[in-house]
Amino acid sequence: MDLTQAEAVMDLIHAQSEMALKAATQQLEGRLGKESEHLRADLIELLAHVEAYIDFPDEDIDPDTGAAMQKRLASIHLRVGSLLDTAHHGRILRSGARTVICGEPNVGKSSLLNLLSGFDRAIVSAEAGTTRDTIEEVLHIHGLPFVLVDTAGIREGAGSIEQSGIDRTNREMARADVILEVVDGSLPRDAARRVPGLEDRRGYLLILNKSDLGLHPSWLPDVERGAILLSCENQEGLDPLRAAMRDAVWTGAGAGNSQMVAINARHQACFQRAAESLVHGAAALKRGEAPEFVAVFLREAMEAVGEVTGRVDVEEILGAIFSRFCIGK
Ligand code: GDP
Repeated sequence: MDLTQAEAVMDLIHAQSEMALKAATQQLEGRLGKESEHLRADLIELLAHVEAYIDFPDEDIDPDTGAAMQKRLASIHLRVGSLLDTAHHGRILRSGARTVICGEPNVGKSSLLNLLSGFDRAIVSAEAGTTRDTIEEVLHIHGLPFVLVDTAGIREGAGSIEQSGIDRTNREMARADVILEVVDGSLPRDAARRVPGLEDRRGYLLILNKSDLGLHPSWLPDVERGAILLSCENQEGLDPLRAAMRDAVWTGAGAGNSQMVAINARHQACFQRAAESLVHGAAALKRGEAPEFVAVFLREAMEAVGEVTGRVDVEEILGAIFSRFCIGK
Protein backbone atom coordinates (compact mmCIF):
# COMPACT_ATOMS: atom_id res chain seq x y z
CA MET A 1 0.00 0.00 0.00
CA ASP A 2 1.41 3.42 -0.90
CA LEU A 3 0.77 6.65 0.96
CA THR A 4 -2.13 7.72 -1.25
CA GLN A 5 -3.84 4.41 -0.50
CA ALA A 6 -3.25 4.79 3.23
CA GLU A 7 -4.78 8.24 2.99
CA ALA A 8 -7.70 6.76 1.07
CA VAL A 9 -8.43 4.48 4.04
CA MET A 10 -8.67 7.61 6.15
CA ASP A 11 -10.88 9.28 3.53
CA LEU A 12 -13.12 6.20 3.53
CA ILE A 13 -13.51 6.44 7.30
CA HIS A 14 -14.35 10.14 7.10
CA ALA A 15 -16.42 10.05 3.88
CA GLN A 16 -19.75 11.71 4.52
CA SER A 17 -21.14 11.67 1.04
CA GLU A 18 -21.61 9.27 -1.80
CA MET A 19 -19.12 11.06 -4.06
CA ALA A 20 -16.49 11.25 -1.32
CA LEU A 21 -16.86 7.51 -0.85
CA LYS A 22 -16.46 6.91 -4.56
CA ALA A 23 -13.35 9.07 -4.79
CA ALA A 24 -11.82 7.39 -1.74
CA THR A 25 -12.51 3.93 -3.17
CA GLN A 26 -10.79 4.82 -6.43
CA GLN A 27 -7.81 6.24 -4.57
CA LEU A 28 -7.65 3.08 -2.49
CA GLU A 29 -7.59 1.08 -5.70
CA GLY A 30 -4.41 2.96 -6.50
CA ARG A 31 -5.42 5.26 -9.31
CA LEU A 32 -3.67 8.36 -8.03
CA GLY A 33 -0.70 6.27 -6.87
CA LYS A 34 -0.27 4.76 -10.33
CA GLU A 35 -0.52 8.11 -12.08
CA SER A 36 2.07 9.59 -9.72
CA GLU A 37 4.39 6.64 -10.26
CA HIS A 38 4.10 7.00 -14.04
CA LEU A 39 4.99 10.65 -13.72
CA ARG A 40 7.95 9.80 -11.53
CA ALA A 41 9.15 7.12 -13.95
CA ASP A 42 8.97 9.60 -16.84
CA LEU A 43 10.90 12.17 -14.83
CA ILE A 44 13.56 9.60 -13.93
CA GLU A 45 13.98 8.74 -17.59
CA LEU A 46 14.32 12.38 -18.53
CA LEU A 47 16.75 12.94 -15.70
CA ALA A 48 18.83 10.00 -16.89
CA HIS A 49 19.07 11.67 -20.29
CA VAL A 50 20.18 14.98 -18.82
CA GLU A 51 22.65 13.31 -16.50
CA ALA A 52 24.21 11.49 -19.38
CA TYR A 53 25.30 14.91 -20.63
CA ILE A 54 26.84 15.70 -17.27
CA ASP A 55 29.18 12.77 -17.76
CA PHE A 56 30.57 14.50 -20.83
CA PRO A 57 31.43 17.95 -19.50
CA ASP A 58 32.54 19.32 -22.87
CA GLU A 59 29.18 18.78 -24.44
CA ASP A 60 26.17 20.98 -24.19
CA ILE A 61 22.71 19.55 -24.71
CA ASP A 62 22.35 19.67 -28.49
CA PRO A 63 19.36 21.66 -29.76
CA ASP A 64 17.47 18.65 -31.14
CA THR A 65 17.72 16.73 -27.90
CA GLY A 66 16.91 19.92 -26.00
CA ALA A 67 13.74 20.41 -28.03
CA ALA A 68 12.69 16.80 -27.53
CA MET A 69 13.27 17.19 -23.79
CA GLN A 70 11.21 20.40 -23.74
CA LYS A 71 8.36 18.52 -25.33
CA ARG A 72 8.50 15.73 -22.77
CA LEU A 73 8.74 18.24 -19.94
CA ALA A 74 5.70 20.05 -21.27
CA SER A 75 3.69 16.84 -21.40
CA ILE A 76 4.67 15.95 -17.82
CA HIS A 77 3.76 19.48 -16.75
CA LEU A 78 0.37 19.12 -18.39
CA ARG A 79 -0.34 15.89 -16.52
CA VAL A 80 0.71 17.46 -13.21
CA GLY A 81 -1.58 20.37 -14.09
CA SER A 82 -4.61 18.16 -14.63
CA LEU A 83 -4.01 16.43 -11.30
CA LEU A 84 -3.77 19.86 -9.66
CA ASP A 85 -7.11 20.77 -11.25
CA THR A 86 -8.78 18.05 -9.17
CA ALA A 87 -7.78 19.76 -5.89
CA HIS A 88 -10.96 21.86 -5.99
CA HIS A 89 -13.10 18.71 -6.14
CA GLY A 90 -10.95 17.11 -3.46
CA ARG A 91 -11.58 20.00 -1.09
CA ILE A 92 -15.33 19.97 -1.77
CA LEU A 93 -15.50 16.22 -1.13
CA ARG A 94 -13.43 16.34 2.03
CA SER A 95 -14.63 19.61 3.60
CA GLY A 96 -17.90 20.39 1.81
CA ALA A 97 -18.84 23.30 -0.43
CA ARG A 98 -19.19 26.40 1.74
CA THR A 99 -22.58 27.83 0.96
CA VAL A 100 -23.75 31.22 2.13
CA ILE A 101 -27.39 32.25 2.13
CA CYS A 102 -27.78 36.01 2.02
CA GLY A 103 -30.49 38.55 1.46
CA GLU A 104 -32.58 41.15 3.22
CA PRO A 105 -34.59 40.31 6.32
CA ASN A 106 -37.84 38.46 5.72
CA VAL A 107 -37.12 37.23 2.19
CA GLY A 108 -37.09 33.61 3.39
CA LYS A 109 -33.46 32.73 4.15
CA SER A 110 -34.24 30.70 7.25
CA SER A 111 -37.13 29.02 5.49
CA LEU A 112 -34.76 28.04 2.66
CA LEU A 113 -32.19 26.66 5.08
CA ASN A 114 -34.86 24.59 6.78
CA LEU A 115 -36.21 23.37 3.49
CA LEU A 116 -32.80 22.33 2.23
CA SER A 117 -31.83 20.63 5.44
CA GLY A 118 -35.19 18.95 5.80
CA PHE A 119 -35.99 19.90 9.36
CA ASP A 120 -36.43 23.02 11.49
CA ARG A 121 -32.86 23.88 12.29
CA ALA A 122 -32.83 27.66 12.20
CA ILE A 123 -35.33 29.91 13.92
CA VAL A 124 -37.91 31.12 11.42
CA SER A 125 -39.73 34.23 12.42
CA ALA A 126 -42.01 36.73 10.69
CA GLU A 127 -40.22 39.50 12.60
CA ALA A 128 -37.35 41.10 10.65
CA GLY A 129 -33.78 40.63 11.88
CA THR A 130 -34.16 37.55 14.07
CA THR A 131 -31.42 35.44 12.54
CA ARG A 132 -28.47 37.04 14.27
CA ASP A 133 -26.07 34.17 14.52
CA THR A 134 -24.42 32.13 11.85
CA ILE A 135 -25.77 28.61 11.92
CA GLU A 136 -23.99 25.83 10.06
CA GLU A 137 -25.58 22.79 8.60
CA VAL A 138 -24.07 20.04 6.45
CA LEU A 139 -26.34 18.56 3.84
CA HIS A 140 -25.97 16.36 0.82
CA ILE A 141 -27.09 17.31 -2.65
CA HIS A 142 -26.54 14.88 -5.51
CA GLY A 143 -24.03 13.02 -3.36
CA LEU A 144 -21.98 16.15 -2.57
CA PRO A 145 -21.53 17.71 0.86
CA PHE A 146 -22.57 21.36 1.28
CA VAL A 147 -21.87 23.31 4.44
CA LEU A 148 -24.74 25.75 4.63
CA VAL A 149 -24.23 28.93 6.55
CA ASP A 150 -27.32 30.89 7.47
CA THR A 151 -26.54 34.52 7.98
CA ALA A 152 -27.53 37.65 9.82
CA GLY A 153 -28.57 39.15 6.52
CA ILE A 154 -27.08 42.06 4.72
CA ARG A 155 -28.61 45.36 5.63
CA GLU A 156 -27.63 48.93 6.15
CA GLY A 157 -27.84 50.71 9.48
CA ALA A 158 -28.02 47.55 11.55
CA GLY A 159 -27.60 47.85 15.29
CA SER A 160 -24.32 46.91 16.97
CA ILE A 161 -25.62 43.52 18.16
CA GLU A 162 -26.22 42.56 14.58
CA GLN A 163 -22.98 44.10 13.32
CA SER A 164 -20.79 41.17 14.42
CA GLY A 165 -23.10 38.79 12.59
CA ILE A 166 -22.85 40.91 9.47
CA ASP A 167 -19.05 40.99 9.65
CA ARG A 168 -19.05 37.23 9.88
CA THR A 169 -21.37 37.04 6.91
CA ASN A 170 -18.97 39.13 4.84
CA ARG A 171 -16.07 36.91 5.84
CA GLU A 172 -18.05 33.81 4.95
CA MET A 173 -19.06 35.35 1.67
CA ALA A 174 -15.44 35.98 0.73
CA ARG A 175 -14.57 32.29 1.05
CA ALA A 176 -17.86 30.80 -0.13
CA ASP A 177 -18.07 28.24 -2.93
CA VAL A 178 -21.76 28.92 -3.40
CA ILE A 179 -23.67 32.13 -2.69
CA LEU A 180 -27.44 31.91 -2.58
CA GLU A 181 -28.87 35.40 -2.72
CA VAL A 182 -32.52 35.25 -1.77
CA VAL A 183 -34.97 37.97 -2.79
CA ASP A 184 -38.72 38.28 -2.50
CA GLY A 185 -39.69 37.66 -6.12
CA SER A 186 -43.25 38.83 -5.54
CA LEU A 187 -42.03 42.39 -4.94
CA PRO A 188 -40.70 44.75 -7.64
CA ARG A 189 -37.02 44.32 -8.50
CA ASP A 190 -36.34 47.99 -7.65
CA ALA A 191 -37.54 47.44 -4.10
CA ALA A 192 -34.96 44.74 -3.40
CA ARG A 193 -31.79 45.83 -1.65
CA ARG A 194 -29.14 43.51 -3.02
CA VAL A 195 -25.47 43.11 -2.30
CA PRO A 196 -23.55 44.98 -5.01
CA GLY A 197 -21.07 43.04 -7.11
CA LEU A 198 -22.19 39.59 -6.00
CA GLU A 199 -23.55 38.52 -9.36
CA ASP A 200 -20.12 38.23 -10.92
CA ARG A 201 -18.87 35.89 -8.21
CA ARG A 202 -18.26 32.25 -9.01
CA GLY A 203 -20.99 30.07 -7.56
CA TYR A 204 -23.53 32.91 -7.36
CA LEU A 205 -27.22 31.95 -7.62
CA LEU A 206 -30.14 34.34 -7.45
CA ILE A 207 -33.22 32.87 -5.82
CA LEU A 208 -36.61 34.45 -6.43
CA ASN A 209 -38.51 33.22 -3.40
CA LYS A 210 -42.22 33.45 -2.59
CA SER A 211 -43.18 32.48 -6.14
CA ASP A 212 -46.48 31.23 -4.68
CA LEU A 213 -47.42 34.91 -4.30
CA GLY A 214 -46.79 35.41 -8.04
CA LEU A 215 -43.59 36.59 -9.70
CA HIS A 216 -43.26 40.32 -10.23
CA PRO A 217 -42.61 40.79 -13.99
CA SER A 218 -39.61 43.06 -13.33
CA TRP A 219 -37.64 39.89 -12.47
CA LEU A 220 -38.22 38.23 -15.86
CA PRO A 221 -34.81 39.22 -17.32
CA ASP A 222 -33.18 37.60 -14.28
CA VAL A 223 -35.16 34.42 -14.86
CA GLU A 224 -33.78 34.37 -18.41
CA ARG A 225 -30.27 34.69 -16.99
CA GLY A 226 -30.80 31.65 -14.77
CA ALA A 227 -32.40 32.97 -11.58
CA ILE A 228 -34.28 30.22 -9.75
CA LEU A 229 -37.96 30.43 -8.91
CA LEU A 230 -38.71 29.07 -5.48
CA SER A 231 -41.53 28.81 -3.03
CA CYS A 232 -40.46 27.76 0.42
CA GLU A 233 -44.10 27.89 1.38
CA ASN A 234 -45.21 25.32 -1.23
CA GLN A 235 -41.80 23.63 -1.46
CA GLU A 236 -41.64 24.27 -5.19
CA GLY A 237 -38.48 24.82 -7.19
CA LEU A 238 -36.23 22.81 -4.91
CA ASP A 239 -35.05 20.37 -7.60
CA PRO A 240 -33.79 23.05 -10.01
CA LEU A 241 -32.11 24.75 -7.05
CA ARG A 242 -30.36 21.54 -6.01
CA ALA A 243 -29.19 20.94 -9.60
CA ALA A 244 -27.88 24.52 -9.86
CA MET A 245 -26.00 24.13 -6.57
CA ARG A 246 -24.37 20.94 -7.79
CA ASP A 247 -23.40 22.54 -11.11
CA ALA A 248 -21.95 25.54 -9.26
CA VAL A 249 -19.29 23.42 -7.57
CA TRP A 250 -18.98 20.32 -9.68
CA THR A 251 -17.87 21.37 -13.14
CA GLY A 252 -14.64 21.36 -15.07
CA ALA A 253 -11.99 18.68 -15.17
CA GLY A 254 -13.07 15.39 -13.69
CA ALA A 255 -16.76 16.27 -13.16
CA GLY A 256 -18.95 13.39 -14.28
CA ASN A 257 -15.85 11.31 -14.78
CA SER A 258 -16.35 7.83 -13.44
CA GLN A 259 -12.57 7.46 -13.08
CA MET A 260 -12.46 10.08 -10.40
CA VAL A 261 -9.31 11.55 -8.93
CA ALA A 262 -9.69 14.24 -6.27
CA ILE A 263 -6.37 15.09 -4.66
CA ASN A 264 -6.05 16.34 -1.08
CA ALA A 265 -4.15 19.36 0.23
CA ARG A 266 -0.93 17.37 0.76
CA HIS A 267 -0.95 16.01 -2.79
CA GLN A 268 -1.72 19.50 -4.02
CA ALA A 269 1.33 20.96 -2.24
CA CYS A 270 3.57 18.22 -3.71
CA PHE A 271 2.27 18.66 -7.25
CA GLN A 272 2.53 22.43 -6.97
CA ARG A 273 6.20 22.14 -6.05
CA ALA A 274 6.69 19.70 -8.90
CA ALA A 275 5.00 22.09 -11.33
CA GLU A 276 7.22 24.98 -10.23
CA SER A 277 10.37 22.91 -10.62
CA LEU A 278 9.22 21.81 -14.06
CA VAL A 279 8.75 25.43 -15.11
CA HIS A 280 12.26 26.29 -13.88
CA GLY A 281 13.69 23.18 -15.57
CA ALA A 282 12.06 24.03 -18.88
CA ALA A 283 13.34 27.62 -18.65
CA ALA A 284 16.89 26.44 -17.88
CA LEU A 285 16.74 24.08 -20.84
CA LYS A 286 15.47 26.83 -23.09
CA ARG A 287 18.22 29.20 -22.00
CA GLY A 288 20.74 26.50 -22.89
CA GLU A 289 22.08 26.27 -19.37
CA ALA A 290 24.46 23.54 -18.25
CA PRO A 291 22.80 20.13 -17.85
CA GLU A 292 23.64 20.21 -14.13
CA PHE A 293 21.14 23.03 -13.62
CA VAL A 294 18.42 21.31 -15.58
CA ALA A 295 19.07 18.13 -13.60
CA VAL A 296 18.63 19.95 -10.28
CA PHE A 297 15.14 21.08 -11.24
CA LEU A 298 14.16 17.71 -12.63
CA ARG A 299 15.34 16.03 -9.46
CA GLU A 300 13.29 18.45 -7.39
CA ALA A 301 10.21 17.70 -9.47
CA MET A 302 10.83 13.97 -9.21
CA GLU A 303 11.18 14.15 -5.45
CA ALA A 304 8.03 16.24 -5.08
CA VAL A 305 6.05 13.73 -7.14
CA GLY A 306 7.65 10.88 -5.20
CA GLU A 307 6.40 12.35 -1.94
CA VAL A 308 2.82 11.88 -3.11
CA THR A 309 3.14 8.10 -2.94
CA GLY A 310 5.82 8.13 -0.26
CA ARG A 311 8.61 6.92 -2.49
CA VAL A 312 11.14 9.36 -1.06
CA ASP A 313 12.13 9.95 2.51
CA VAL A 314 8.88 10.85 4.12
CA GLU A 315 9.31 10.11 7.82
CA GLU A 316 7.79 13.45 8.72
CA ILE A 317 4.88 13.05 6.33
CA LEU A 318 4.22 9.55 7.59
CA GLY A 319 4.18 10.87 11.13
CA ALA A 320 1.75 13.62 10.18
CA ILE A 321 -0.56 11.26 8.34
CA PHE A 322 -0.64 8.40 10.80
CA SER A 323 -1.08 10.72 13.77
CA ARG A 324 -4.55 11.34 12.37
CA PHE A 325 -5.47 7.67 12.62
CA CYS A 326 -7.20 6.65 15.83
CA ILE A 327 -6.36 3.36 17.49
CA GLY A 328 -9.52 1.29 17.28
CA LYS A 329 -10.68 2.61 13.92
P1 GDP B 1 -35.46 35.50 6.71
O1 GDP B 1 -35.61 36.68 7.60
O2 GDP B 1 -34.91 35.91 5.38
O3 GDP B 1 -34.71 34.36 7.32
O4 GDP B 1 -36.94 35.01 6.38
P2 GDP B 1 -37.78 33.84 7.06
O5 GDP B 1 -37.37 32.52 6.54
O6 GDP B 1 -37.79 34.02 8.52
O7 GDP B 1 -39.21 34.14 6.45
C1 GDP B 1 -39.84 35.38 6.63
C2 GDP B 1 -41.34 35.23 6.42
O8 GDP B 1 -41.61 34.92 5.06
C3 GDP B 1 -41.92 34.09 7.25
O9 GDP B 1 -43.20 34.51 7.72
C4 GDP B 1 -42.06 32.97 6.25
O10 GDP B 1 -43.12 32.09 6.58
C5 GDP B 1 -42.36 33.71 4.97
N1 GDP B 1 -41.96 32.98 3.78
C6 GDP B 1 -40.77 32.37 3.57
N2 GDP B 1 -40.75 31.77 2.35
C7 GDP B 1 -41.96 31.99 1.80
C8 GDP B 1 -42.56 31.61 0.54
O11 GDP B 1 -41.97 30.94 -0.32
N3 GDP B 1 -43.83 32.07 0.30
C9 GDP B 1 -44.50 32.82 1.21
N4 GDP B 1 -45.73 33.19 0.88
N5 GDP B 1 -43.97 33.15 2.40
C10 GDP B 1 -42.73 32.78 2.70
